[in-house]
Amino acid sequence: MLANRRVKIVATIGPATSSYENLENAIRSGMNVARLNFSHGTHQDHLEVIRNIRSLSQKLLAPVTILQDLQGPKIRVGNLKEGSVYLKEGAEVILSPSIQLGEGNEIPTDFKELPEVVQKGDRILLDDGLLELRVKSISGERVHAEVIYGGELKNRKGMNLPGIPLPVECLTEKDLKDLEFGLLQKVDYVALSFVRRGADIRKLRSLIEERNPATKIVAKIEMLEALDNLNEIVSLSDGVMVARGDLAVETGQAQLPQVQKRIIGLANHLKKPVITATQMLDSMVENPRPTRAEITDVANAVLDGSDALMLSAESASGKYPFKCIQTMHEISIEVEKEGRYFYDIDFEGEGGVPETVAASACLSAKRLNASTIICLTSTGKTATLISSFRPKARIIAATSKVEVLNRLELAWGIQTFGIQSYKTSDEAMEQIATLLLKYGLAKKGDKVVLTLGLPVLAGAKTNTVRIYELSETGSSLGNCSSVIPLRCQTYADPV
Ligand code: ATP
Ligand code: MG
Ligand code: MG
Repeated sequence: MLANRRVKIVATIGPATSSYENLENAIRSGMNVARLNFSHGTHQDHLEVIRNIRSLSQKLLAPVTILQDLQGPKIRVGNLKEGSVYLKEGAEVILSPSIQLGEGNEIPTDFKELPEVVQKGDRILLDDGLLELRVKSISGERVHAEVIYGGELKNRKGMNLPGIPLPVECLTEKDLKDLEFGLLQKVDYVALSFVRRGADIRKLRSLIEERNPATKIVAKIEMLEALDNLNEIVSLSDGVMVARGDLAVETGQAQLPQVQKRIIGLANHLKKPVITATQMLDSMVENPRPTRAEITDVANAVLDGSDALMLSAESASGKYPFKCIQTMHEISIEVEKEGRYFYDIDFEGEGGVPETVAASACLSAKRLNASTIICLTSTGKTATLISSFRPKARIIAATSKVEVLNRLELAWGIQTFGIQSYKTSDEAMEQIATLLLKYGLAKKGDKVVLTLGLPVLAGAKTNTVRIYELSETGSSLGNCSSVIPLRCQTYADPV
């Protein structure tokens, strides 16, 4: 069943996945988080996707995190008449902000200052560095360049100018409008591109506080400057993305594997969910099977400690979006059988009450060989902390708040139960025990560890660990809904 996979899957939504049917297929295939890339598509497109996901979540009883990815000051090529052009090695192309629609060797860009900032001899990289041009001359608004490494260039691919600084603000005018839209639609997370320092996160946080404080922040790490300020950025964020596309261009490709491990390691240490992104199954944009290197990359990203793995073009515009999700699922499930993967943690670390309760719950589960840690939560905070200890026991976060159920889908290992409100811990426990047994997630006689805040009726913050043994209560077995949540059903390949 899908609930058995601990690492989560983020799928970028695009033409290949945005219809109601395709979104349903993506969720059935194992998507936990839908990433809406605001570099592409209109607000109307994104609105429909958000509405469809929310309604599918209810239908399938499968919460989904909606992650709004803000473009930031990314520079791109513009639209091409045929959707793409083939750049031949040695050929001359002209890049210019004054070209409206690209055709032949004329390529538009949204970067107005391009002719002013580049000089003869500069390198221009396209599509996450896949294609390379070298500037030969500049005449007025037109930049003439020679194709060094050619290939197919598609609409609106990114452009990198190594050594030339980007425009300063990481929240552009467009980002502010997109953010306003996202907060109105109550997206669960906002991902900020090209973060450089803690102040960038603080600025975004203050905008979020004004509109929809429940929305959380993912910092996309893709600049050298961000690596210099990594500790501060990760500490201030609610999650991190190793945005390998632009990052590898910045660091130089050979540095990428170590940088990935460093970012994931720090996020794990600071107990923040971390997403590994870009080209994980890139060849599956065109082919139904991944390369051996991609299979191994997915597995290694799991072993590095990722909370979630991301698909970009593979799910947004590729030929096999659902197969990609299923492939990630299969590889992950297999890697997670590796025992050493769990409890790679330090129980001795310092922290406040929530960290201590989370550590105690995980230590109790380990010592008792408990099958499940149940976390009664109203914000999801303790559940996320428990997840950061990577326990072998299943983590169940239970709450009656739909937005918390949705948001927790990003974090490693957390499965959620929507439950009715309760007056005592025994009452909550009875509801949950019933569901665990009914869905086959645990069995009679299993030890389970419960975290909660006492007294319940005072709405106290988490302060307690209790240990139960599951017995077949029977009394409320008939009481819960007859629909089995999607992720607790036996896994069958969706169509
Ligand atoms: P970023 O730097 O944010 O990753 P990107 O251009 O690399 O920007 P991805 O989200 O990584 O974009 O997606 C990879 C490709 O998938 C895009 O370049 C684009 O071709 C396609 N794509 C993604 N989302 C959409 C969309 N909503 N509509 C059309 N194409 C999309
Ligand atoms: Mg990308
Ligand atoms: Mg990027």
